[in-house]
Amino acid sequence: MKNPDDLGAVKNIYQTYIRNIAAQLQAIDPAYRLISPTPDIINDDARLEEFIKENFAHNHHQQGSLRMAPLRNGGVVDRRGAVHGVRDLIVADDSIIPFTVDGNTSAPAFLIGLTIAEQLRKRKPVSRRRGWEDFEE
Ligand SMILES: Cc1cc2nc3c(=O)[nH]c(=O)nc-3n(C[C@H](O)[C@H](O)[C@H](O)COP(=O)(O)OP(=O)(O)OC[C@H]3O[C@@H](n4cnc5c(N)ncnc54)[C@H](O)[C@@H]3O)c2cc1C
Repeated sequence: MKNPDDLGAVKNIYQTYIRNIAAQLQAIDPAYRLISPTPDIINDDARLEEFIKENFAHNHHQQGSLRMAPLRNGGVVDRRGAVHGVRDLIVADDSIIPFTVDGNTSAPAFLIGLTIAEQLRKRKPVSRRRGWEDFEE
C-alpha cells in the first residue's frame, strides 16, 4: 500500500464496486447494512485509506499475471491459452484469468485446465517439424 496507485485501486473497489453492491442489496432488503467498513468510512477518503491500511491482507488467490487478452491490450495469452508470439507454449492455470474472480480460485483453475485439455485433444499433430495443426472448431 506504499504505492499510491495500489491504494487508489483498493479504494476504487470500495467506492464503486462495494458501494454499488450494497445499494442494490439494500434496495432488495432495506434492513441490509454494510458493517465493516461502514458507508460513512467508504465516503470519507482519509478514513477509508486508514481502514485499508489497517485491514488489507494477502488472500492467497493470485491470478491474472499472464492475462488472457489481445496483445495490444497488454494480454499474454490468447483465448486458447497460447502465449502471443511463442509457438506451442500454452498456459493452463489461474495466471491466465482475464479479470479477477470474486470467489475462491481453485475451481477456476480446474475449469481452465479441463477446457484447455479438451481443446488440445482436438488438435492433430502433423509432424515434429511443423508442430500442431490449428484447432478444429
Ligand atoms: C494457503 C492457501 C490457501 C488456499 N485456500 C484455498 C481455498 O480454500 N479454496 C480455493 O478455491 N483456493 C484456495 N487457494 C488458492 C488455490 O490453491 C489456487 O488458486 C490454485 O491452486 C491455483 O492453481 P494453479 O494451477 O493456477 O496454480 P498452482 O496450484 O500454484 O500450480 C502451479 C504449479 O506450477 C509449478 N511451477 C511453478 N513454476 C514452475 C516452473 N518454473 N517450472 C515448473 N513448474 C513450476 C508449481 O510448483 C505448481 O505445482 C489457496 C491458496 C493458498 C496458498
